[in-house]
Amino acid sequence: MTYSIDELLARSHDDWLAAAGKLAFETRLFIDGAFTDATSGDRIPSVSPRDGSVLAEVQAAGEADVNRAVRCARAAFEDGRWRDLAPKERKRVLLRWAELILRDAEELALLDTLEMGKPITESVRIDVAKAAETIAWYAEAIDKTYDEVAPTPGDALALITREPLGVVAAVVPWNYALLIASWKLGPALATGNSVVLKPAEQTSLAALRLAALATEAGLPDGVLNVVPGRGEVTGQALGRHPDVDKIAFTGSAEVARLFQVYAGESNGKQVAVEAGGKSPQLVLPDADLEAAASAVAWGIFYNAGQTCNAGSRVVVHASVKDELLAAVRRITDGTFRVGDPLDPATVMGPIVDETQLGKILGYIERGRQDGATVLLGGERTRVESGGSFVEPTILDGVENTSAVGQEEIFGPVLAVVSYDGDVEEGVRLANESDFGLVASVWTRDVTVAHRTAKRLRAGTVWINTFDASDVITPFGGFKATGAGRDKSLHALDAYTALKTTWINLA
Ligand code: NAD
Repeated sequence: MTYSIDELLARSHDDWLAAAGKLAFETRLFIDGAFTDATSGDRIPSVSPRDGSVLAEVQAAGEADVNRAVRCARAAFEDGRWRDLAPKERKRVLLRWAELILRDAEELALLDTLEMGKPITESVRIDVAKAAETIAWYAEAIDKTYDEVAPTPGDALALITREPLGVVAAVVPWNYALLIASWKLGPALATGNSVVLKPAEQTSLAALRLAALATEAGLPDGVLNVVPGRGEVTGQALGRHPDVDKIAFTGSAEVARLFQVYAGESNGKQVAVEAGGKSPQLVLPDADLEAAASAVAWGIFYNAGQTCNAGSRVVVHASVKDELLAAVRRITDGTFRVGDPLDPATVMGPIVDETQLGKILGYIERGRQDGATVLLGGERTRVESGGSFVEPTILDGVENTSAVGQEEIFGPVLAVVSYDGDVEEGVRLANESDFGLVASVWTRDVTVAHRTAKRLRAGTVWINTFDASDVITPFGGFKATGAGRDKSLHALDAYTALKTTWINLA
């Protein structure tokens, strides 16, 4: 039975509980177009953070399994079974794949929600629907992208063409398991590469289904392989593999640096990294405070703060701080209902696992010790569910240079930093971070808005909004946040190399 996105969004809690009860889990690796047992013997339990139950034991790829996946990907690349297809043929396969993702939206959304804890409406609306949209968008781009001819003298013709890199290893996190995978898979496959995808330990099940759907859509065997596994084993084996041409990584800044080391110590493969943030929302005294408060609440509590571009720091002028925070509290109390992620009425689900929950609670305690005041929340909640829930939390009076002012908590914890001075002081505090993923500025003065946006050091700057995005614009960061960009047509450059062919016409 196939349901549309709208039908899925209209479902009740009972409907979703019944559907979840009927799910079967595929736990094997996906290599060369088929599910296959790992030779490693290692298993990773997939634990649902909604109630602590073990959903499945996922097979973890060891080094030999990674070698096999890379070998198959390389063979598929070298014989041209995918890259040599006419662009409109590749487009047809990828468009069909996007349709199949939507056909199986119910199953994919359930896998995402059960494994990661994201509210089911968000899994449907964002992870599944946007992943399908992303694949379709890159499919549509393939036969509309032209190469170049250089302005040579009349006795020569120089062609500048893009060629696929070869074998791409995509290593992704758990917070948007399908969507972030699609940001890599869309442009990498559209441009003719082969891919080995390593999902995060917490979220392998949906990625495995995604690959099977690609084969059903007609993607030739070996072009997309999925190797679930442990970061330090499977991820490292890909990072150090001599026959991988590119790593496309999204995850923490620490692991991003490891991939740069792996590349340097192996074959010098290309490494694109998208890491975390401590993204500021800068609220100036003339801001529309009601609109800013809503964006501040959604910016940090959406996805329980487990978003790379969460607005985890608000830098607010002291003269409007109390009014802003009163509105943030009111909106949070009225909107962010914490509950079972399978209940469509839930707006904030659990934290992905007990380790991450412990880290978040540790940061709240650290904030208290460093002199911040817990203005809202601060505690674990829904303990009786067996799940890993924490309240939406606001820490006021945060010193920008303290741990909770600088480090990525990756949970629903807002750090409030205030300043007394002029806009220069606000910009200085907003930029005082090792990260540079996104930032926003809230002001009614259009000149100040533009001047401030230019000076904020971030890959995306929003003026009087937050988290507005689409596949049509690039996404990635400055400073420790990253190197490279996902999304938009620029991502096609990330998976291709330029070749010059100079022809003598003399
Ligand atoms: P993580 O860095 O722990 O893991 C990411 C991936 O790397 C996983 O697949 C993991 O298995 C693998 N990995 C872990 N250790 C490894 C190692 N030693 N060697 C090789 N691979 C290894 O990140 P996470 O906890 O899964 O995700 C949360 C992080 O991701 C946050 O920092 C968040 O900001 C970041 N993130 C960034 C973006 C972005 O676009 N900038 C998007 C989403 C998440």
